[in-house]
Amino acid sequence: CGIFGIFGHPEAANLTYLGLYALQHRGQESCGIVSSDGASLHAHKGMGLVADVFGNQEIFKQLPGEGAIGHVRYSTTGSSVIKNVQPIMVDYSRGSIAVAHNGNIVNAQIIKDELEAWGSIFQTTMDTEIIVHLLATSKTSSLLERIADALQRIRGAYCLLFQTETRMIAVRDPHGYRPLCLGKLGNAYVVASESCALDLIEAEFIREIEPGEIVEITKNGMTSHFPFKKVAPAPCIFEFVYFARPDSTIFGKNVYLVRKELGRQLAREFRIEADMVIPVPDSGVPAAMGYAEESGIPFELGLIRNHYVGRTFIEPQQAIRHFGVKIKLNPVRELIKGKRVIVIDDSIVRGTTSRKIVKMVRNAGASEVHVLISSPPTSYPCYYGIDTPNRKELISSSHTVDEIRRYITADSLGYLTPEGLTQAVGTENTSYCRACFTGDYPIKFPQLRPEPQLG
Ligand code: 5GP
Ligand code: SF4
Ligand code: MG
Repeated sequence: CGIFGIFGHPEAANLTYLGLYALQHRGQESCGIVSSDGASLHAHKGMGLVADVFGNQEIFKQLPGEGAIGHVRYSTTGSSVIKNVQPIMVDYSRGSIAVAHNGNIVNAQIIKDELEAWGSIFQTTMDTEIIVHLLATSKTSSLLERIADALQRIRGAYCLLFQTETRMIAVRDPHGYRPLCLGKLGNAYVVASESCALDLIEAEFIREIEPGEIVEITKNGMTSHFPFKKVAPAPCIFEFVYFARPDSTIFGKNVYLVRKELGRQLAREFRIEADMVIPVPDSGVPAAMGYAEESGIPFELGLIRNHYVGRTFIEPQQAIRHFGVKIKLNPVRELIKGKRVIVIDDSIVRGTTSRKIVKMVRNAGASEVHVLISSPPTSYPCYYGIDTPNRKELISSSHTVDEIRRYITADSLGYLTPEGLTQAVGTENTSYCRACFTGDYPIKFPQLRPEPQLG
């Protein structure tokens, strides 16, 4: 998911719309904006893309005020239905509050069962709603204390934006799994999942919100708080591999440059005799460029992408995923014919994409098709907000590299080593979460459900 908020600007909702537009790659299922005019909150939400849900200027008349938060969603928990569209907004004894969440709460079911036993009634099936119930029932007085108190009980990944009548509060969980940055536009404060959203509205990047930090923004300015026990940070390395936009700076690094370095590292690990390097667009492009530079093998755009198709993986229905590859990609036959080709992609999840691509490239006349992946085998599910499928659907959880090579019908297949991944991303911060590659989860298992509940 992606979150965006701005406080202290007369065009708050409009700017939030633009911010969400820049974060669309983080979720295409649904989106929403909640604004505050200082006295009450206003919401508009819907299923589908930002441009579709907010395609009508009239909508912004219903979203007045100088504060707004927004969300783009793909489901990790809770099904893909309108009642689960964020931000969620509730009225409680002290007024109204809206919240937008990027991440996944791993002890959600336990807390939910407890809250229901005490009489809470849930409106949605999203784990995010738990946070609202916890803060509504907290015995502490200020909103900041209530939020901190509620979050003490929560385990997992969360970047949160809260909007009340008079303030906006941003939180990044103590492990800092997901990115979140802070910017300024004139006197207004801006918070966004990725810096590319600040760029679009010409806000100045100030800094990242730190793991375990709560930032409160009111008309009197910004204050920063660190109420949680300090733990080792575990930013998600997969944000660099695939999820974030290449023009963003997250966890102190530009994503494009990291991806290119993943490709260079791949070239150091796998020397292959070939005529050209072809990326699987768009996610494989920077790594293929890095590979080409390091190996001296020419880079070619041998697969052309139809840009009017969404990110196939994120579509929640298996049936749509199935068609995805052909709708999306077509080879340049005249370029590929008779050539030894290296195809580079960022990851293999189920293996269906790679299998179709290898067949496509071979049908276009390639004499050899080698596949290189700019990350290690994805063998374990993510519990921290990336919608990887259940373990049994991850092809590398139950198959060797050679079995996968045979399945995708490639002449050779190579994955970046976990050491190569860490080295390419940078060893100055060695405590990244890499659990989907290594199985070494930063939050240990008793607190986890056996499998993530997928939408
Ligand atoms: P597969 O067909 O192997 O399941 O899909 C692999 C493709 O899915 C890759 O091209 C990768 O870029 C893309 N992809 C999209 N979303 C995700 C995601 O959340 N996780 C992973 N690992 N790959 C994804
Ligand atoms: Fe990121 Fe993988 Fe960790 Fe999930 S398990 S937070 S995708 S590194
Ligand atoms: Mg891809």
